[in-house]
Amino acid sequence: METGSSIFPQSGMQQPLEQQPLGSGAGRAPDDDDDGGGGKGSMDGNAVSGNPYAGLVSRLRAAWLSGKTRPIEYRAAQLEALGRFLHEKKQDILDATALDMGKPPFEAEFSEILLCKNELHETLNNLSHWMKDEQVDRNLATQLDSAFIRRDPYGVVLIIGSWNYPIHLFLVPLIGAIAAGNCAIIKPSEMTKNTETLVGEVLPSYLDTDCFAVVTAGVQETTRLLENKFDYVFFTGSPSVGRIVMTAAAKHLTPVTLELGGKNPCYVSDTCDVQNVARRVAWGRFFNAGQTCIAPDYVLCSLEMQEKLMPALREAITEFYGPNPQESPDFGRMVGDKHFQRVQALLRSGRVAIGGQTDEKERYIAPTVLVDVQHSDPIMQEEIFGPILPIVVVASVDEAIDFINSLEWPLAVYAFSSDDKVVKQVLERTSSGGFCGNDTLMHVTLTSLPFGGIGSSGLGMYHGKFTFETFSHHRGCLHRGMGREAINSLRYPPYSRQKLGIVRAASEVKRKGACILL
Ligand code: NAD
Repeated sequence: METGSSIFPQSGMQQPLEQQPLGSGAGRAPDDDDDGGGGKGSMDGNAVSGNPYAGLVSRLRAAWLSGKTRPIEYRAAQLEALGRFLHEKKQDILDATALDMGKPPFEAEFSEILLCKNELHETLNNLSHWMKDEQVDRNLATQLDSAFIRRDPYGVVLIIGSWNYPIHLFLVPLIGAIAAGNCAIIKPSEMTKNTETLVGEVLPSYLDTDCFAVVTAGVQETTRLLENKFDYVFFTGSPSVGRIVMTAAAKHLTPVTLELGGKNPCYVSDTCDVQNVARRVAWGRFFNAGQTCIAPDYVLCSLEMQEKLMPALREAITEFYGPNPQESPDFGRMVGDKHFQRVQALLRSGRVAIGGQTDEKERYIAPTVLVDVQHSDPIMQEEIFGPILPIVVVASVDEAIDFINSLEWPLAVYAFSSDDKVVKQVLERTSSGGFCGNDTLMHVTLTSLPFGGIGSSGLGMYHGKFTFETFSHHRGCLHRGMGREAINSLRYPPYSRQKLGIVRAASEVKRKGACILL
């Protein structure tokens, strides 16, 4: 992992941490002796002494404990400020992501601006409704009382982002964290330096810096940051780092959401509109130069379908990117040299049927299709995360399903068929974070659908209301009246069979019918 210039020696923490743009008005950079600012450090029993970020975490916790983030007016004002950030800094975001990874402006505007705004608008439109206490059923004993679920903020949350959608992947969780009334530290990826700098320098000027901070950090600093006790950690990245984050959180019994990755299969049945399939698969695979966590990672189809798909994919790629995709303004680049080299090495699996050209200087890898790929080839052992689409031949839908089920559960499963029964069969007999029939990626455009993984592709979910729910503790509350002690005393000792009968009648949950299918 590249850590950029902010790597610092274990012995002297101050130098790089002083460079960290904690935002205008965010106060001084933390140091080893920081007590949390304003002498409040001692009130936070969870501060890790000697940790360079302890002061920052304490300061945010003090702000959270003050109750400042709870009123809906406060939450809405911070969310509106995020909207202004997206609106006013749109061009800077497009420029930064273009510099970082050649992200085409269309793709950046769609994924980093539009989808974030959708999340923001969905949240602002519904926040007052989501925040309301949810009244729940009561038993006979509590019939006259108030029973409700309160969505409580957790406190100080940590959001660690990934580089492939460097704005979207911290901003969408942040929307939910703010909506739910939390304070937050945001740690964008250090891989996309231009975007990281923009976020570190500009975002804090839009937000209340008592409650929100951006920490720019590489692996070593993030390791130190994770030593602190947070009330929730939301991580987006690889399964291997997900384990590290979860282990660090477990030390404090901190709940986590892990948005991870995996190999997303794409089954193409023999009955389908081949040209439409080719376009939809090529778009999903080559969007962002293949660096999308829910990109179709490989195609499973019959030999006959592979023969039909090949010219259709070639046509789709030319239609999208012209005869030389390297000259297309609509095709991105690998994010870094290590990623370029890793993905380039995967071209040695199977046989290149389309594309295959590379240019190390530009970190360019052409949209590529590989055939004759074996299950044991290196490209089938890891998430590709680049513009290569291997095709694995299977004899039937059953074999495709068995293949999918022999691997770790992915973030998405795709199935294409003109026969709905085939699509439903793949849905029913596989498991994955999300599913999309007859298209790729499009399920992520719906704020109404939960987004997240299962097994090694992740833990928890977000988007739309689910982000708000993720950052809210569901607090079960019962508010009773002070009187009616004669009824209440039936549960107190000395016990008797007669009292037990009455207590049972007042609190028992009865089965409604004998048939479980009703
Ligand atoms: P990564 O795990 O290397 O890095 C993610 C974040 O973790 C970065 O901010 C990085 O600074 C930090 N980090 C890295 N090593 C760390 C360590 N040892 N301790 C603490 N923090 C550390 O992942 P990446 O390269 O940024 O992203 C690629 C992976 O992320 C792919 O697997 C992809 O599928 C997945 N991803 C998932 C989603 C999703 O929504 N599920 C979205 C984007 C990317």
